[in-house]
Amino acid sequence: MLASPSGPCIIGQMTTVRDLLLEGKHRLSENSAARLESEILLANAMEVSRSYLFAHPEQDIAEVTANQYLQDVGKREHGEPIAYLTGQREFWSLPLTVSPAVLIPRPETEILVETALSRIPTDKRCRIADIGTGSGAIGLAIAHERPASEIHASDISADALSIARQNAGKLGIRNISFHQGSWLEPLSGQFDLVVSNPPYVAMGDPHLDQGDLRFEPEIALVSGGDGFDAIRTITSTAKDLLVTGGWLGFEHGHDQADDCAAILRSNGFKNIETLKDLE
Ligand code: GLN
Repeated sequence: MLASPSGPCIIGQMTTVRDLLLEGKHRLSENSAARLESEILLANAMEVSRSYLFAHPEQDIAEVTANQYLQDVGKREHGEPIAYLTGQREFWSLPLTVSPAVLIPRPETEILVETALSRIPTDKRCRIADIGTGSGAIGLAIAHERPASEIHASDISADALSIARQNAGKLGIRNISFHQGSWLEPLSGQFDLVVSNPPYVAMGDPHLDQGDLRFEPEIALVSGGDGFDAIRTITSTAKDLLVTGGWLGFEHGHDQADDCAAILRSNGFKNIETLKDLE
């Protein structure tokens, strides 16, 4: 009679922080930030800070955590933005929740916040609109810096507004309210300042097939055949909702300054200024 050993069998292998980081770095090696991105993804899966990883390279990682990390590394290999994998992006030093329902806030958009703030006195109750707010980035940054002012943020997407509301709640920012609808449509009353980071990429632009843009909502990026649809709508409607002497500020593409100035002029705007960001 042939007998085989019976009874329980156990096999186990632990994986350390160091092993997982090496694996991530190897799998993301096409990417110049492979090491940093592996650290961000592992810290996220472990719910610790990146500096914790440096202090605990030998720590054993639970299988479920290692699997989540390796799954995220796989998604990153296929181009998914880091911000969507961690669900977080910092803007104006505010930690914001993000999801594929919203554009990922860009550091270069901070110049719009800075410019807006230079036109909002700290001691006056100004009314400010952030239209097409997405994650709420611009509106929340302004609301945070100008607690005496009241900010009204709009977005056509209910999913985006739910993220923006979540961010306001998490950050404890109360001088902002949210309105669902297209640009200025859901807002009433007069505004001292209207700001926006609208979509301004032309349909079919090859940049849309590159990097994070492939995963971001098209509605937040693309605006008609020439990229100016949203800017035209915003400019022609903002003029009726601004107080005398009020400002309209928006982000646009690097080669769109002259056309934007012409659109503003034809709608009666004066004192038009173009500011270059670092990008
Ligand atoms: N600045 C973004 C990009 O080209 C576009 C964002 C937008 O359309 N508002 O990456």
